[in-house]
Amino acid sequence: MKHLSEYRDADLVRGVLGEIKRTVTCPWVIMEICGGQTHAIMRYGLDQLLPQDLELVHGPGCPVCVTSLELIDKALAIASQPGVIFTSYGDMLRVPSSGNDLFSIRASGGDVRVVYTPLDAVKLAYQNPEKQVVFFAIGFETTAPANCMSVLQAKTMGLENYSVLVSHVRVPPAMKAILSSPHNRVQGFLAAGHVCAVMGYWEYPPIVEQYKVPVVVTGFEPLDILQGILLTLRQLEQGRAEAENAYSRVVTFEGNRKAQAIIDQVFTDCDRKWRGIGIIPASGWCMRDEYAKFDAEKRFPVSHINSEESTICIAGQILQGLKKPIECPAFSGRCTPENPLGATMVSSEGACAAYYQYSRR
Ligand code: SF4
Repeated sequence: MKHLSEYRDADLVRGVLGEIKRTVTCPWVIMEICGGQTHAIMRYGLDQLLPQDLELVHGPGCPVCVTSLELIDKALAIASQPGVIFTSYGDMLRVPSSGNDLFSIRASGGDVRVVYTPLDAVKLAYQNPEKQVVFFAIGFETTAPANCMSVLQAKTMGLENYSVLVSHVRVPPAMKAILSSPHNRVQGFLAAGHVCAVMGYWEYPPIVEQYKVPVVVTGFEPLDILQGILLTLRQLEQGRAEAENAYSRVVTFEGNRKAQAIIDQVFTDCDRKWRGIGIIPASGWCMRDEYAKFDAEKRFPVSHINSEESTICIAGQILQGLKKPIECPAFSGRCTPENPLGATMVSSEGACAAYYQYSRR
């Protein structure tokens, strides 16, 4: 298959691995931002093929994992109300809140539905004018254009019963927060290719300049990931720090300007709380005032909800590259995919789920 099988070619993978082994001369810590990359690394066993001096740590790029407990509690409070159809992508349904999850709300009679695109939720609002339809818009920059499009579509259709519970987060402020921490271990980043397909990578040179850390835009196939690692490693070994693109078949420097304009039309920057990490300034997107009537947090009385995070789950430290899932005392004992204590064990992009699924125990 074009653009897939060639990026899984064993001979080419061996070739890049050999180059990585020849290049590394001392210990380095590189963070892959995206949970999809974490899963690919585990699935193909790349972590076990790399030289010991090269440590990969797993970043916060898993939207389900970083959606704050508070917002999930708000989602449950809205979904529990009569007359509401609460819609979400499937992977949010099993994420534990302070109490139960969205599946439990559905089991106890709530109208919680899985949709594959926010436009399905708009369609539901059109078909059910007597109901309030809410879409749970979680995600990074990648899903933001479609979520904004749903708001524009609802506005064009004159729908008064559609709103969005917005939980959008952004990669660059999270990178800055990690690099600013006194405990930071990250010396280079593999930036998330799909985020950059939308946003480009024009936001990274100022970060590279400020923190002197290489950032390499990286894809998701084994060869993509190894190529990203090799380019990062070369920069580290040569004492360089640049924003580089190892995913040029998809990503341009500018990104998708039309998508960025749609995001800018509907959303504005705001502070955002990340699960297990806390508030990162200007790290989220919220609805602009012009679209306030589509904001579920304004339509439903949930502003009083304030949630306390679990003291057992160390996912926040894992997603900042400070710890690995196997260092969590609950991993694979008290916390499993069937009985998750934290979102990183449930999400298909979660680091704990990856370690569990691919037996890094
Ligand atoms: S294993 Fe479970 S409790 Fe531990 S960090 Fe992962 S999700 Fe949290």
